[in-house]
Amino acid sequence: MKLPEAGDYIDIHTHGATVLPGIFSVETLMAHEEKLPGNYPGIIYSFGIHPWFLEENNHDRLLSRVVDMVDNPLIVAIGEAGFDKIKGPSSELQRKTFEEQVNIAEKHRKPVVIHCVRAWEELLQEHKKLSPDMPWLVHGFRGKPELAMQLISRGMYLSFWFDYVLRPESSKLIRSLPADRIFLETDGSGVDIRDIYNKVSNDLGFELEIFKGQILRNFNIFFNNGR
Ligand SMILES: [Zn+2]
Repeated sequence: MKLPEAGDYIDIHTHGATVLPGIFSVETLMAHEEKLPGNYPGIIYSFGIHPWFLEENNHDRLLSRVVDMVDNPLIVAIGEAGFDKIKGPSSELQRKTFEEQVNIAEKHRKPVVIHCVRAWEELLQEHKKLSPDMPWLVHGFRGKPELAMQLISRGMYLSFWFDYVLRPESSKLIRSLPADRIFLETDGSGVDIRDIYNKVSNDLGFELEIFKGQILRNFNIFFNNGR
């Protein structure tokens, strides 16, 4: 397994990654898919139960897939896992399944990638309750600066929703955050990660290469389980 190098663009959350020179991807595999990690240059994986695809009658099977896969060296994180108030099963089943996945992540010393839609109180409560050693990354973020800082003050990292981050109105949020707590992602949308890097480095007033260095440091700290 190859890790990102200086100069690489890092796509921290994608689906269906392809091998592209200069781009390093963390592809999310969802436990309900029958897809396995492949050893390709520039692609590593997270693996977890997405709340949209969780049901009472597939819970046990999906959870045992996570347990079976967690020690695969290509799988560097658990997730996406989390809470969705719009789509998915009962909040009780979502909460139970999230806690089970966090426990697996803690036991195997892997960080967690979070999917959270309109359930910020639940997410913050879970973080207080479980008090994890492993860092959490909230992907697809597009909330207010105050919420972002609440999550960051609990030790979490944020990656922005690909569509929102390219819009001018996201600049205020981006500028309000510490650059050592952010990541960028395409979420498998087909948007070019290089365009997202350009937009965000401009917002922050960083030279592109300096900004790439910052995201690479964030990556190394996040996956070495640091705060
Ligand atoms: Zn995703």
